[in-house]
Amino acid sequence: MSAIKETLGFQAEVKQLLQLMIHSLYSNKDIFLRELISNASDAADKLRFEALSDPALFENDPDLKIRVAFDRAARTLTISDNGIGMSRQEVIDHIGTIAKSGTREFFSQLSGDQQKDAALIGQFGVGFYSAFIVADKVTLTTRRAGLTPEHGVRWESAGEGDYTLETVEKPTRGTEIVLHLREGEDEFLSDWKIKSIIRKYSDHITLPIVMKKTEWKDGVEVPTDEDETVNRASALWVRPRKEITDDEYREFYKHVAHDFEPPLAWSHNRVEGKQEYISLLYIPSHAPFDLYDRERRHGIKLYVRRVFIMDDAEQLMPAYLRFVRGVIDSSDLPLNVSREILQSSKDIDAIKAGSVKKVLGMLEELAEKTQEKYATFWKEFGRVMKEGPGEDFANKERIAALLRFASTHADTDAQVVSLKDYIGRMKEGQNAIYYITADSFAAAKHSPHLEIFRKKGIEVLLLSDRVDEWLVANLHEFEGKPLKSVAKGGLDLGALEDEAEKTAQKEAEEAMKPLVERIKATLGERVKDVRVSHRLTDSPACLVTGEGDMSANLERLLKAAGQAAPTVKPTLEINPTHALVTRLNAETDENRFADWANLLFEQALLAEGGQLDDPASFVRRLNSLLAMLPG
Ligand code: ADP
Ligand code: MG
Repeated sequence: MSAIKETLGFQAEVKQLLQLMIHSLYSNKDIFLRELISNASDAADKLRFEALSDPALFENDPDLKIRVAFDRAARTLTISDNGIGMSRQEVIDHIGTIAKSGTREFFSQLSGDQQKDAALIGQFGVGFYSAFIVADKVTLTTRRAGLTPEHGVRWESAGEGDYTLETVEKPTRGTEIVLHLREGEDEFLSDWKIKSIIRKYSDHITLPIVMKKTEWKDGVEVPTDEDETVNRASALWVRPRKEITDDEYREFYKHVAHDFEPPLAWSHNRVEGKQEYISLLYIPSHAPFDLYDRERRHGIKLYVRRVFIMDDAEQLMPAYLRFVRGVIDSSDLPLNVSREILQSSKDIDAIKAGSVKKVLGMLEELAEKTQEKYATFWKEFGRVMKEGPGEDFANKERIAALLRFASTHADTDAQVVSLKDYIGRMKEGQNAIYYITADSFAAAKHSPHLEIFRKKGIEVLLLSDRVDEWLVANLHEFEGKPLKSVAKGGLDLGALEDEAEKTAQKEAEEAMKPLVERIKATLGERVKDVRVSHRLTDSPACLVTGEGDMSANLERLLKAAGQAAPTVKPTLEINPTHALVTRLNAETDENRFADWANLLFEQALLAEGGQLDDPASFVRRLNSLLAMLPG
């Protein structure tokens, strides 16, 4: 081991983050203290947990606390804890690199426009680095619990390109962070100011946050030897609901969720009976940048009788509710519970089921009472909620009621229509909920499949999120009404059509029989069948898939993702009233007939967002047709 000072470069992203943060969070600079205290509190939680199996880690110093002190002459502010501390490697890994998965993707979203980026930075969560908002030099000295005093590490940086690391002697375990305040930041050298920030942002921290009492001597405030606990220092979730203010709930959220923005809603419950536990669950107001990252963190912290057990307890929330943040504190689980035990624990299953119900209840209330907030929720997390019916059969109907869609009823791509709204607007004689899937909102909205529905004023849900295919594969009905694709199977509008319409269709089918046969013979392997359409009013043709077949949209999605998907042959439907079709019917030249029939098929494929196998032939056919137009 050497005491030699090493200089290491920050990861490029850290440099960028520091720059951005110092500028964009300056107007909210007090938060640095919240972040450092939050880290100290996490470090104490980790120590308490590790000490369950190795009590020696306490080193005869079991009273965990956080100390805040300032030195007016040196212009420093010091935050220290006797938590778990960090080894040299942990310092390198956690302070100086951003280990979070998805960091690169996050940075690729930054635009360089400070205002826009400032909004993103909160999403990312800047934690430790927020120290540089007020400090032009930060010295962190730490020793991991269990290592001997000569294994201390000192990290120091001015928050620019690099940092230094050296091995030092540190008699006490834990971490001490000294902020050398920037010029003009003297306000943080005030006892009153620091205490008020702590009370505002960190009152809910479970550990005591201790400061020296001060007294005034000759007009200056000087610290005495007496300690004073500044915060309330009791677990927030244990306190009765009515004694907790909204601000306290919000600040606690920022600590557990590592988020800068306040939450949309929360639900705080003490559950008694077979399982005893307290849950405090939050819905964030924005999606984290890594919502779709497979290695994303889950949001629930598990405690057992106030002792922190683990972060990211994925057994406590299903994947479709992975955005929920909060705390579950069980009175029954053993303290030595491991992830393996959690996986096969009936107790955990019961807690999970209860917590899911609470979350769904919270969302139902949000949807009912504060539609604006629900719209925000849906915009941020709607696509994740759509995974729900496929994952959580027990709650399928409740989840389905929370879903929102774009529809032909509204003229925007905003997803605001619920299945209940839809059913409320169903036409007399309508017995299905109609939808269309496509790979974009525009493709869905302009699909020829909607023509007859438009004409008859029947609403169709427009589904264009990738997850929608998965959703409709798992959600077959709602309140007894089947969900039906408008692009699948033979269309039977049943009572929505009158006798005259039905007779007209029969006649058209009869009259078009020879044409249908001719087209079928011409297209051969390209189609499964050809028939007269009941769904078209303006377009000459469209493609449909069989009732039980994979939709064309899903087939395209899977193939684009490089996955195996069967090629489903479509059925071509032709519009007997369209001029192109009547002309085709009269065509006697076999070559020209073949060109037209293929064109009909190809444009139907294009209209639904499909791709041509042989675009050059399509263009040739189109040109030969155009050339026939009278000049
Ligand atoms: P986050 O808290 O969201 O993980 P931070 O930037 O606040 O992000 O902290 C980064 C990491 O540095 C923490 O996850 C932790 O591993 C480590 N760390 C920070 N402060 C401390 C501390 N006081 N004691 C021990 N580890 C710490
Ligand atoms: Mg933190």
